[in-house]
Amino acid sequence: MLLIGAMTILKDFNSLKLLPSILEQVEKKGYTTPTPIQAQSIPHLLKGRDLLGIAKTGSGKTAAFSIPILDRFGRKNVVLKPNQVRSLILTPTRELATQIEKNITTYGEGLELSSKVVFGGVGRQPQIKALEGGLDVLVATPGRLLDLINCGHVGFEQLEVFVLDEADMMLDMGFLKDVKSVISFLPIKNQTLLFSATMPPAIEKLSKELLINPIKVKVDLETSTVDTVIQKVYALEKKNKNELLETMLADSAYSSVLIFCKTKLGGDIIVQHIENMSVSCAAIHSNKSQRERDEALNSFREGEVRVLVATDVAARGIDIKNVSHVINYNLPEDPTNYIHRIGRTGRAGQSGVAISFCVPSEIARLGTIEKLIDQKIEIDADQPFHVDFSSITSASKKKKNAKGMKAKKAKGRRF
Ligand code: AMP
Repeated sequence: MLLIGAMTILKDFNSLKLLPSILEQVEKKGYTTPTPIQAQSIPHLLKGRDLLGIAKTGSGKTAAFSIPILDRFGRKNVVLKPNQVRSLILTPTRELATQIEKNITTYGEGLELSSKVVFGGVGRQPQIKALEGGLDVLVATPGRLLDLINCGHVGFEQLEVFVLDEADMMLDMGFLKDVKSVISFLPIKNQTLLFSATMPPAIEKLSKELLINPIKVKVDLETSTVDTVIQKVYALEKKNKNELLETMLADSAYSSVLIFCKTKLGGDIIVQHIENMSVSCAAIHSNKSQRERDEALNSFREGEVRVLVATDVAARGIDIKNVSHVINYNLPEDPTNYIHRIGRTGRAGQSGVAISFCVPSEIARLGTIEKLIDQKIEIDADQPFHVDFSSITSASKKKKNAKGMKAKKAKGRRF
C-alpha cells in the first residue's frame, strides 16, 4: 500500500489534462487550487487505482472521486444495457446522496452522461423508471438500493467504478450489513474507492477485503478540528439554555446558525422556542419526511431561515456554505461527532464560530472531547449565565473526600 502523507503533488487542475468541459465547470465553481485530498488522489484515480481515502469532513472529497469518474466516462461512452449501471456511489444519508448527485451533474455538464440518485422514504416508481435505460452514475443509500437490486431493477454487469463513501458512518448507523450485501452483488474487478473519516476495525477489515493494492491518502486525522473554526464553551445551568440562546440570536452576527441537539423531540422543542422569538427556524431529523427535510435544508441554504436545528444523524456531512455559527445545544455523546458538527462551519477556508453549551453534568464529556482533539476549548465567561466550573469541580472533590473520610471512619469502627 502506498501511503501519501501531507505532500502535495498537484498545484492546479490544468496539469491534470482533464476534459475541457470538466475544467470549465471546476473554474465556474471557483476552484483554483485542488484541496489536499484532490491533489493527492485525482492523479492516481485517473490511472484507475483503488483508493483508501481518510479525509475529514469538508475536505473536498466529492470532487476528488467525481472528477476522475466523469473524465473517464466522458472520454469513452458505453452503450448501457437496461438497468445496468457503470458506476455506483454508496453513501449513508439521503442528504449526502442528493448533494453528491448535484455535484456530479454540475461537474458533468456538457458530457452526455446520465446520473440518478435513489434513496428510501420516497416513491420507488420514478427511480425504477430512471434505471430502465441504464445509468452512468448511480448515487444511492444502502437500504433502497438493496431493495431495487433484489427486485431486479439494478444490475452491475457493466460496473467500472464503485465508491463507498463515509464508511465509518455506515457502521455507526447500522448499515454495514446492507453495505456488505450490496458488495456481494458487485463484480470483483472494478476500480474501488473507500472513503472514511475514521478507521474502526470493522472498516479496516472491509477495506482489506475490498481494495486491491490501493493508494492510501490520509489528509487529516479525525482528531483534528477545522483550523478556521473558533471554538468556545459556554458553561451554564441547563435551565438557562433557552434564555442564553435568545440572547445570542438577538445579535445579528448570528446570521446563519446550525444548532445541534441530542434528540428529535428536543429539536422540535428548540424550534418551537426559537419561533416564539420570531426568528425563522427549521429542523431536520429522521422523523421528518424527505420532502420536509429537503425543504428545511434548502430554505437554510438559501438564507430564507436563519436557524437550522439538527440531530447528528441528519446533519453529518452536509455541505452548507456560509454557516456563521454552530451551536452545540448539548455536547455530543460520541466525541467524534463534535468534530463532524463543528466542521459544518468554517468550510472551504471561510471562518466560523462553534459554541458548545456545557452544563455541570457534562464536564467529563467536555474533557473527553478535549482529549480527542488534543486541545483545550476556551470557556468563555463573557455571557450572562456563566457558571464557574472550577468551583463545582472543587466542591464535588470536597464532597468526594468527605465521603471517603466517612467511609474510612466507618471502616475504622468495624475493626
Ligand atoms: P466536500 O468535502 O466534498 O463536501 O466539499 C466541501 C466543500 O468544499 C464544498 O462546498 C465544495 O464545493 C468545496 N470545494 C471542493 N473542492 C474545492 C476546491 N478545489 N477549492 C475550493 N472549494 C472546494
